[in-house]
Amino acid sequence: MNDERSTAPRAAPAHVPMSQYGLSGDELVVGGKPISVLATQVGQTPFYAYDRGLLAARAAQLRQALPAGVKLHYAMKANPMPALVALMARLVDGIDVASAGELKVALDAGADAAEVSFAGPGKRDIELHQAVAAGVLVNVESARELPVLAQASQALGLPARVAVRVNPDFELKGSGMKMGGGSKQFGVDAEAVPALLSQIGKLQLQFEGFHLFAGSQNLRAESICEAQRLSYELARQLAGHAPAPVRFLNLGGGFGIPYFPGEQRLDLQPIGENLAALQERARTELPEASLVIELGRYLVGEAGVYVTRVVDRKVSRGQVYLVCDGGLNHHLSASGNFGQVLRKNYPATIGNRAGSRAGNTTRETASAVGPLCTPLDLLADRMELPVAQAGDLLVIFQSGAYGASASPQGFLGHPVYAEVLVGAVNS
Ligand SMILES: *Cc1c(COP(=O)(O)O)cnc(C)c1O
Repeated sequence: MNDERSTAPRAAPAHVPMSQYGLSGDELVVGGKPISVLATQVGQTPFYAYDRGLLAARAAQLRQALPAGVKLHYAMKANPMPALVALMARLVDGIDVASAGELKVALDAGADAAEVSFAGPGKRDIELHQAVAAGVLVNVESARELPVLAQASQALGLPARVAVRVNPDFELKGSGMKMGGGSKQFGVDAEAVPALLSQIGKLQLQFEGFHLFAGSQNLRAESICEAQRLSYELARQLAGHAPAPVRFLNLGGGFGIPYFPGEQRLDLQPIGENLAALQERARTELPEASLVIELGRYLVGEAGVYVTRVVDRKVSRGQVYLVCDGGLNHHLSASGNFGQVLRKNYPATIGNRAGSRAGNTTRETASAVGPLCTPLDLLADRMELPVAQAGDLLVIFQSGAYGASASPQGFLGHPVYAEVLVGAVNS
C-alpha cells in the first residue's frame, strides 16, 4: 500500500469549497439527508439530486443583487427536469425555452405563457405555429421565420409576438462558450436587423423587443458588465428602426459558476450596479422597456449533485482506479467532453466518507472512471479523495446544469439515471 502511494502522481490543485452542502458525521448531506440514506430512498445509483433549498436561495440571492424591476428568466435547457422547472417557474419571472418540447414542459409546469420566450436556430414551422397558439414570445433568429409566423397568426386569429435575436458585432470576453459576435448560426447579424424590423412591420407581427446573448459560463463580472453595456447600446440604436416601442430587452446572461481548481465565484455586486445604471438610462431612452436577464447554469448548477456507486477498486501500476456504475453516459460534462478544451476535474468527493479531512491518512490520490469501454469515460483524474471501497458513493458537485439531459444515455446500453428533487424551499 505504501509503495503504491509513493509512486502515485501528485494530486491536482484544490477547488473552491462546496460549502453549500453540510456534513452529518462523515456523510455529505443533500436535501437534508445523509447521502447514503438518500441513495436508499432513490432506490438506485446512479442518480442526480437537486436541492430545492439551494435553488430557492440562489434565486433569492439574485433578487437581492439585481435592481428591482429587472426580470429574471430561467433558460431551461440547463436542466429541463419537469419538477425542477415547476419550482423555477415559481421562483423566477419567466422561462426561456429552446424547442417545442421544452415549451410543453414549461407550460405543464405552470409557467405564464406571457412570460415565456422561445429562442433557437432551426425552429420548425410546426414549432412556430405552436408558439403563436400558446401566446409565447418568439425570439426570431432568421428572416425565414417571419412569413411562417404571419401565416400562423392569420390562421389562428392571434398575434404573433416577436423579439429579434441580434447577433452583435462583439463577443463576451472570457466565456466558456461564445454565442454571439462574428459569424454565427444564432440570431440575425446586427447590420441586417433594420431590414428585418421593416419586414416585421409590413407583416403586422407584434414587435416587442430585442434579445442579445453573447456567451456562457463567464466568471468575470467586468466582462459581463461590458457585454451588457454594449448590448444595451446596440438595442437602443436598433430601436430607432423598430415598428413599435421596445417593451422587452433581454440582455442575455452568461453568469458562470466555478467548476475547476483555481476558479472563484462570480461577484454579483458590480453586475447589479451596472444593470441599475442601464435601467436608469432606459427610463428616458426606452421608456416602455423591461430589462431581462436569462440564466441557466447560474440558477441551477450549484444546486445539483451526481451520485454514482463504486463498483470496483483497481490498482494499475501504482494508480488507484475507482470504477463506478455511471460515467460520461450520464454526465458528459464532468468527463470533460462537453465543450472543454483541456480536461479538468469537477469538484468531487466520496459522499459517505466526505468528513475525512485533507492531510488525513484516510485520503489518497485516485482516479474515478465510469463503466464504459473508452478512456474518455473519466470522472476524476488523479484527485485527492477519501479512500474508497466498492459500495461507496462518488459524488460529483456542480452537476445541476448540463448534466442529465446533456449526456448520451444510450451509449453502451447501461441502465438509465434517476433524478430527484429533494429538500425544502426553506431549508
Ligand atoms: C444556453 C442559453 C442560455 C443559458 O446559458 P447558461 O450558461 O446556462 O446560463 C441562455 N440563453 C440562451 C439564448 C441560451 O442559448
